[in-house]
Amino acid sequence: MTKIITEHDQQAAVKALERIIAVPSYNAPAADGAPFGQGIRNALDEMMKICEELGFKTYEDPDGYYGYAEVGSGEKIFGVICHLDTVPAGDLAKWDQDPFKGTVVNDAIYGRGAQDDKGPGIAALFAVKALMDQGYHFNQRIRFIYGTDEEILWRGIDEYNKKESPIDSGISPDAEFPVTYAEKGLQQSYLVGPGTDQLKISLKNAFNAVPDQAVYDGPRQDEVKAALDKHGFEYTSDDKQITVLGKAVHAMLAPQGTNAVLRLAIALDEVFDFKPLDFIGKLFKEDATGSNVLGEVKDESGQLTFNISSLEINKQETRMQIDMRIPVTIDRDDLVDQLSKKVAPYELKYEHYDYLAPLYVPKDSALVQTLMKVYKEETGDQDAQPQISGGATFARTMNNCVAFGGMLPTTPDYMHQANEQWPLKDMFKTMEIYAHAIKELCTD
Ligand SMILES: [Zn+2]
Repeated sequence: MTKIITEHDQQAAVKALERIIAVPSYNAPAADGAPFGQGIRNALDEMMKICEELGFKTYEDPDGYYGYAEVGSGEKIFGVICHLDTVPAGDLAKWDQDPFKGTVVNDAIYGRGAQDDKGPGIAALFAVKALMDQGYHFNQRIRFIYGTDEEILWRGIDEYNKKESPIDSGISPDAEFPVTYAEKGLQQSYLVGPGTDQLKISLKNAFNAVPDQAVYDGPRQDEVKAALDKHGFEYTSDDKQITVLGKAVHAMLAPQGTNAVLRLAIALDEVFDFKPLDFIGKLFKEDATGSNVLGEVKDESGQLTFNISSLEINKQETRMQIDMRIPVTIDRDDLVDQLSKKVAPYELKYEHYDYLAPLYVPKDSALVQTLMKVYKEETGDQDAQPQISGGATFARTMNNCVAFGGMLPTTPDYMHQANEQWPLKDMFKTMEIYAHAIKELCTD
């Protein structure tokens, strides 16, 4: 394939990425015009400056929730949906470079956000800039949309969707190549029931992980141990407590993990006579596809995953925390209805917490076909297939939008980790793929 990206474009993109990494932008207490902290607002301001210098028209939400930068003309909008917030640096001792400097060492650019998502956003931006410099005219508006709260609750992009024009199609450069055309619906909720005097436990974990430990320090430990032994469940114990062991995986892979909270609950259910525990012990058991409760729920995007990550029982109430990843063609309201009915005999009530609608752009759509064609031409990987994910990107918040890159399948994954870095040769390849894709989709 002919190259679009010049060495000059590459160097300019690296310089811009250094600039934006140098503005720390992890969530912090709100300030005036900075709902997610001054750092994130500063990163948004800096990004708008970079875009203006490249010749884009920009708009920044005065309340600081989002910004966008646009080039081209016409009715239609092609969106490139990015985020400027990052997770914090974590343990600084584990970093070889300053996470907030943007340093090129051994042909990789280091810093928080290099992969997620400042780097891919900059790569796409400079791919468009390269097309502009070569005199291409865009047959629609290309709009880079910057969210500011991707790592927490998506409040920035929600505000965009409330206030601004929807896009007609687009990409989110916040995942892996080739194309993610389906992301399951994501429902997080609680099951809530009565309390009891018999036992007290407080096992609190994140929604999105299968817990690998569950501590029990309540009464009748010998009986609980006997129940664990009977099932062959692994645990350690001393004279104070029992620690049930499991295997942690991301909630989207829940059936591949071993849920320590469930294992403890199954054992407790055999020792204590308490209705809400029967839900786990007698119905749900250990099947994280939820099929014991809801039957088999699946389609081309895969099976339902159903993770129960937290369990609290005290005098006042029982509370379980659940994370369900729902196949793209399954009706979520129906599923929630069914679940509510199934838990009622166990004195449990369904309680909503958060929902992200699924992403689904058919594989034979022009958008997916074009992106796949460009990806195959640029990488030579003729066997590549469009992907399905249980994860979540901003693509699902927009019309006809898919996740596309910026990580190659061979790029080591440093997202959310110490020493986050992006090898420059991968970054430049990604720029080339974006340039060809946007040329195909947005020029005549
Ligand atoms: Zn991201």
